[in-house]
Amino acid sequence: MLTGYRFRLYPTRAQAAILLRWIGCQRFIYNAKVGEDRYFRTFARKALQHAGMFAPVDGTYAQFITDETAWLREVPAQVLRNGAASWVTAYSRFFKKLGGRPKLKRKSGQQSVWLTAELFRFEPAEGSYRFMVGTKKCPVGEIAYNAHRPHTPPASVRITLEAERWYLSFSTEDATILPDPQETADWLADFGHAELTERAVGIDRGVAVPFMCSDGARYDLDDIQKARVAKKQAAARRWKKKLARRAKGGQNRRKAARRIAALHRYETDVRRDFEHQTSHRIIADPRTLLIVFEALGVQRMTRRPKAKQDANGRWVRNGACAKAGLNRSILGAMWSRTKDCCAYKAQRAGKLVIDVPAHHTSQECSRCGYIHPENRMSQSAFLCQRCGHAENADSNAATNIRNRGVARIRSGGYRETEKKRIRRMRKKQQQVGGGSSEHTSVETMVSRAAGNGPALGSEKQKGGLARAAETPTSTTEG
Ligand SMILES: [Zn+2]
Repeated sequence: MLTGYRFRLYPTRAQAAILLRWIGCQRFIYNAKVGEDRYFRTFARKALQHAGMFAPVDGTYAQFITDETAWLREVPAQVLRNGAASWVTAYSRFFKKLGGRPKLKRKSGQQSVWLTAELFRFEPAEGSYRFMVGTKKCPVGEIAYNAHRPHTPPASVRITLEAERWYLSFSTEDATILPDPQETADWLADFGHAELTERAVGIDRGVAVPFMCSDGARYDLDDIQKARVAKKQAAARRWKKKLARRAKGGQNRRKAARRIAALHRYETDVRRDFEHQTSHRIIADPRTLLIVFEALGVQRMTRRPKAKQDANGRWVRNGACAKAGLNRSILGAMWSRTKDCCAYKAQRAGKLVIDVPAHHTSQECSRCGYIHPENRMSQSAFLCQRCGHAENADSNAATNIRNRGVARIRSGGYRETEKKRIRRMRKKQQQVGGGSSEHTSVETMVSRAAGNGPALGSEKQKGGLARAAETPTSTTEG
């Protein structure tokens, strides 16, 4: 089993200065490799006689150490070599179509340095380890770190500086063999319908309640956390304005950037805490063996309430801001990361997380299966138009999701689909999907009406309304 660890690291001021230099030098080598490659590829494009001449994709870096860059000699050679090696790794990922061509690393934002075994060691010390860094020529000494869970010494580590905090992260492999999800699915398929329904939980992810379970449990940030996140986001917006007015490269601008990073850090911490606690609670429940989520598309992520008109045909507030409650970016991240956390925790516990199609989960009656948009009376109330079944709308959706998951497992329809991690492809798809869903006919109409004169605007409004009436499904919730 491969386990990842991420611990807080507490270097002294002097140690932090050395680590920052290592980070800078490793980034310099990486970026120099990127630059060299670009230079050669430009040649190959511009002159025919150079066609096919590329810089070899290898880990050489000595050519970058010149009299002008003599400062590179002050750090251990392994730090530089690892910079070149990680560029080679990135390039081989590109050749395998797993990612884009290596890009220049920025000097701002999260920074890290990759250390291999020559640069550190874990010395055993009462039940834990002492983390020693450096070589004979460049000793750094012991750096304090908080090992909040037991671990074994890894082959390489990454030291990261993120929003003013240092982290030590690595992964280790141990002899534990994880259960195969396909085998778990086959085992669950032999359960009776009633028993599997009993042992399954469906989870509806929504805007009003981020996580609603079919067993009635609901998970959300508490009000204090939400208020603090909102407050810090507002402060971050103010500081961004200040930052924009400050001189580039100046000390004051750097201070503002640090302030903004610290404000965002709270949000990240709260979110990460929520993701792990929620996924733990869902998986740790001994009754649950099957956890079912609905497949979330871009549409669902960007969906917003319908535009509203009053009796005179004037546009009024539809409560989109009030409904959102949590910022969409943080909500979207919580939705997907909590599910990811559930998936790996479930595998370790011998349980299974699966996806089912999301269409009509909120309009379908969980008792009789009748699907109609009017079943959903409001955001929170569900009332079946055929059998009169009344329930909380999110809880009804969660039950539908659970039932679909049970049906899928019992029909033997579980196939572990391999994740295609083609980043560039995914980016393109997002652009296409996001562009089309962001501008529904109603929205385009609103912006046009606002931009044009009253006569022209009203005419366009009518046209737009007719179009909207023809295709009601495009704006109703799925
Ligand atoms: Zn019904």
